[in-house]
Amino acid sequence: MHLRDDLLELYLQEGLESAFIAKAESHLGFCKSCSARLVEAAFFTDQVAVFDHRQRAPDGNERRRLTRIATNDPATIQQVNPFSPDQSEVKVLDISRAGLRIHSSVSLLPGAFVKVRLRRIIALGVVQYCVTTKNEFDLGVYLRDLFSVGSGPPGAAASSI
Ligand SMILES: [Zn+2]
Repeated sequence: MHLRDDLLELYLQEGLESAFIAKAESHLGFCKSCSARLVEAAFFTDQVAVFDHRQRAPDGNERRRLTRIATNDPATIQQVNPFSPDQSEVKVLDISRAGLRIHSSVSLLPGAFVKVRLRRIIALGVVQYCVTTKNEFDLGVYLRDLFSVGSGPPGAAASSI
């Protein structure tokens, strides 16, 4: 049995109950088809909160604007495709519209699809480069999706399981 699209989406949003996370991860560990769909699921997530929804253009259309966030905060990175359940501690150097710059003790291959969790922000993107600095690595991640967790209506994520 493959994982349903909505479950893949919830997995990325950290909306799955812990019992189901283990099941999902063990399936994603061997199922290339589902881990590939995990990347597609990233495009259907709601982009909320970190974008300034109060900014509106004169024509009334909502303008989504992400200001550059400079930070040295610890974060975790997980490779989603090819799938690995492992999460590594990293440091996010900055987030901008273009992407993330990350300092990491592990290297990741360019082209890998990753999930980065920084406080309540979850960023999904593709590794663009990975360069060695001393014994560590600087990663560039092209941002595909960015959303915050814990700010939606309570219970909304769990009800569809
Ligand atoms: Zn599958």
